[in-house]
Amino acid sequence: MVVELDSELKIPVSAVAEVLYCPRNFYYRVVEGAEDTNAHVLQGKLEEERRNSRKSLSRTDYRQSRGLFLTSDYLPLTGVVDVVEEKDDQIYPVEYKKGELRDNRNDDVQLCCQALLLEEHLGRDIPHGYVYYASSHQRRQVYFSQELRELTLATIREAQTIIRMGTVPEPLGDQRCQGCSLAARCLPEETKFLQGSGETPVRPLPAINLGRTLYVDTPGAYLRKRQERLLVTKDNDIVKEVPLCSIEQVIIVGTANMSTQLTRLFLEKGIQVFYFSGSRGILGWLNPAWGKNVPLRLAQYRACHDEALCLELAKTMIKGKISNMRTFLLRYNRARPDSSLEEAAGQLEKLAGKTGTVQGKDSLRGIEGAASRAYFQVFGRLLGEKVSFDFKRRNRRPPKDPVNALLSFGYSLLVKEAVAVCQSVGLDPYLGFFHSMVYGRPALALDLVEEFRTIIVDSVVTTCLNKGIINPEHFEERLGGCFLNEAGRKRFFSAYQGRMNEEVTHPIFTYRLPYRRTMELQGRFLAKVLQGELPAYKPFLVR
Ligand code: SF4
Repeated sequence: MVVELDSELKIPVSAVAEVLYCPRNFYYRVVEGAEDTNAHVLQGKLEEERRNSRKSLSRTDYRQSRGLFLTSDYLPLTGVVDVVEEKDDQIYPVEYKKGELRDNRNDDVQLCCQALLLEEHLGRDIPHGYVYYASSHQRRQVYFSQELRELTLATIREAQTIIRMGTVPEPLGDQRCQGCSLAARCLPEETKFLQGSGETPVRPLPAINLGRTLYVDTPGAYLRKRQERLLVTKDNDIVKEVPLCSIEQVIIVGTANMSTQLTRLFLEKGIQVFYFSGSRGILGWLNPAWGKNVPLRLAQYRACHDEALCLELAKTMIKGKISNMRTFLLRYNRARPDSSLEEAAGQLEKLAGKTGTVQGKDSLRGIEGAASRAYFQVFGRLLGEKVSFDFKRRNRRPPKDPVNALLSFGYSLLVKEAVAVCQSVGLDPYLGFFHSMVYGRPALALDLVEEFRTIIVDSVVTTCLNKGIINPEHFEERLGGCFLNEAGRKRFFSAYQGRMNEEVTHPIFTYRLPYRRTMELQGRFLAKVLQGELPAYKPFLVR
């Protein structure tokens, strides 16, 4: 099908050549607005910033202008021409690339796009340009032949077709994916495998964010920036100092304040800040402007109106939750055999099986309620003899006893994690498939945590109690409830972080990766199901 160029549908010059390298990469960057970086991309950006810090450069034999923003009236092209050089009576574009001198048709197409923009802007022919390769400090001359110009226009046409189609192109899954900065979002091998057309992936892809969570629980603390470091101060004394580049998330419990300069920096860098109350859990979060992935959000909104799809997703998530509860009880039963644990595990197995046949969400809620009752009836038996607390039943808002206080605090941390996943994937955390929409409730984040409640939070709670990490002196009674005090929250948070960073074997891909990353993967797979790339959502099941 020949599609005419639509001059209104502008394509950034920097993205056109992506179509030749990988159409999926082009889709993510241009349609979804992905800006994920890795070391290569970062290096390229730093070099570009350094170059552009000098707007022009004059030497005896030539003159350079940098960072020229141009838009065509006739072609669907817009963007920045890196460097325009004037020498004698010639004017030509120069494109900077990392690496060694090489022949590369994609680089030629990108340069040709710049030449087309310049020709229109200057009203003269540009017969050639150069690609400069930074590692070898060499430049290669490129002639804008008729054949290259035709290839460039065909590539622009292809780019417009991809945008108009609005569906994510297939993953490549070949050597081009290695080193691709979008690999953690794209999951090429995992997607192909789940589509039934690829080998089992053997190597986990690094997370997009590898940073740390900064936890601030000191009443009256003040957070500010000093050069490239974040300082937490109290009464002008520095309580903590961390490099800004290492932070992915900030959790503020209680009354800490933050400078405007730091707030702006967090917003610019997409670092999320979560506010917690010691007694009410998560209060809210500071979040950068909405992600640019409109097609995904539209797919999520459509799915929320599709009752059959909502039910299918909810069934899978609740089945995952119940199965993981069962596995958790059986693990304890293996270490210390107890017939009541075995019996509860048997009930959970039956209930997990029933999720497959329910006809509506109300029945599913009934099954989930029965499973939670069976599980929490025996939860107290997971606590060792030396633990000074009893657990009779789950209660909350406010929790009435220490074990419930730990569970409630842990679940609120986990929901915060799921909100962060939704936002980094581009999903709306308030629009869920199982949890109903209630004003101010992050329903999708609550859906996503179902598979992880037991294996992360309940595991941290039992470990903290059985190992004596948390003791009676770590709680306080107030507002008719029982809550962790400052020292208790610090200890619990440290154990929780340890669990999130602990590696687990992925049940489908069999490689090992941290629990935190498994949650991100679930969010990404859910997005792929909503966009029709994967046929069904699979829960994360521990063995
Ligand atoms: S990981 Fe591979 S398929 Fe995915 S965007 Fe990058 S190059 Fe394309």
